[in-house]
Amino acid sequence: MRRGPARCGRIPVRGGRAGLAGLAAARDLAAGGADVLVVEARDRVGGRVEQTELPDGRLVQLGGEVVGRAHTAYLALAAELGLTPVPSYVAEPGALTRATPEGVSAGDPPHWFGPGDDTCHEKVTAAFCALARTVDPHDPWSHPDATALDHAPVGDWLRAQGATPAVVRLWEIGQLALADGSYERTSLLAALRKHAAVPGPDHYDYEAWEGLRVAEGSATVALRMAAALGGRIRTGAPVRAVTVRRPGRCSVRLAGGETLTAGAVVSALPVGPLRQVSVTGVSEERLASLHRQRHALAAKFVAAYERPFWQGLGRSGLSECEGVLGSTWPQSDGILSALVPPERLGVLLGMPAPLRTRELLADIARLYGDEAYRPLATHLRMWGTDPWTQGYVTQWTPGDVTAVGPRHGTHEPPFYVCGSDQWVAGYMEGAVRTGRDTAREVLRRG
Ligand SMILES: Cc1cc2nc3c(=O)[nH]c(=O)nc-3n(C[C@H](O)[C@H](O)[C@H](O)COP(=O)(O)OP(=O)(O)OC[C@H]3O[C@@H](n4cnc5c(N)ncnc54)[C@H](O)[C@@H]3O)c2cc1C
Repeated sequence: MRRGPARCGRIPVRGGRAGLAGLAAARDLAAGGADVLVVEARDRVGGRVEQTELPDGRLVQLGGEVVGRAHTAYLALAAELGLTPVPSYVAEPGALTRATPEGVSAGDPPHWFGPGDDTCHEKVTAAFCALARTVDPHDPWSHPDATALDHAPVGDWLRAQGATPAVVRLWEIGQLALADGSYERTSLLAALRKHAAVPGPDHYDYEAWEGLRVAEGSATVALRMAAALGGRIRTGAPVRAVTVRRPGRCSVRLAGGETLTAGAVVSALPVGPLRQVSVTGVSEERLASLHRQRHALAAKFVAAYERPFWQGLGRSGLSECEGVLGSTWPQSDGILSALVPPERLGVLLGMPAPLRTRELLADIARLYGDEAYRPLATHLRMWGTDPWTQGYVTQWTPGDVTAVGPRHGTHEPPFYVCGSDQWVAGYMEGAVRTGRDTAREVLRRG
């Protein structure tokens, strides 16, 4: 353990937590001359980015995977680490597949669309994009109708705009494919803010959000940062309590009872686990804001095959489904990723564990045929029930944006907060962006 009072030019900073945000913050703090120690509950680094290797050498991403050209902080970091962005599944040839109880279809329009639905979809998409242009992603609270927009579920807004049931269903199946919560339970202001942060012609621009991936594996971003930080990371060290004593005197108590002292603490925990850490010496308002944030609970399933057999059917591997799975997409050659959205996670949890893989493969077989039943390997990662994540990405239900308020993504020095939850909509970009911004702020304040 390293202890010590603040020294000029070398600020002891505790905390971090070795996800992308904590590692990015610690890397920049160390580069700026701070005496930094990252304390991590798990026995590995990476948090929600994690990878494993198949016997044939292919890497399998079990957590965060793709980024987009709008994710400038992440791409800049990847370049600094010598990693290579390559096109993601978005560039794959072939049609998108949609599966509902009454049918499976490839390409547009979806099989449940009838006359007029296409035009209606275009109309509400244009209205959504226009409304998003009135929202400042950095300050959605300043919108004159912030309260009303925040309390309106996207589904209600769509119907009020004249969206037909078929169009509402298209928006909903797309939203469940992303797994961050049904549009019937998503704040319109949060959805508009997300769009305003990365504008595009559609209500979710796949190229801007998901068009790239790191060729060496997205978890390699975390591993490279950790390798450079070396002994400045302590794994297997869950934080139980943080005490902030001004000016610049803080302590961090670990599960084993050990107490670390520091000039500043950077918390890079997901909002669920953070609720279980006792934080004192920070304003009630800040804690209320942090504790009001929530996560969509989801699971990720990955099936690795010898070959991308869906291509033979003219399919890209990207799908939106109304089964237990909400979506599939090709992760890399022959490897199919899939998400179970929060609305269906209970179905999966209610299933005896030995039946889950077969059930999820059945969803894939419905999309792409019986070859789906013959993977070389499968991985089911239950992020929603993982004690150190307790979720997947930030979920904004109606009323949450105003309840969390403008403290979102800000600090109360010497207590600093970063992590993907502190950006508009989770994502690895949010982790890297807020982590690096936080390091800058700590160093600026000395
Ligand atoms: C299945 C899945 C798919 C995803 N897909 C994408 C994607 O394709 N693209 C994308 O951009 N984003 C994706 N994301 C989201 C992205 O992975 C995360 O937003 C990002 O990695 C979070 O980084 P973070 O550092 O903020 O948090 P985390 O990675 O969660 O790091 C927090 C760290 O804190 C540790 N911790 C928790 N509690 C304690 C404690 N008490 N004491 C000490 N340490 C503690 C955790 O173990 C963890 O290491 C996905 C996430 C999941 C789960």
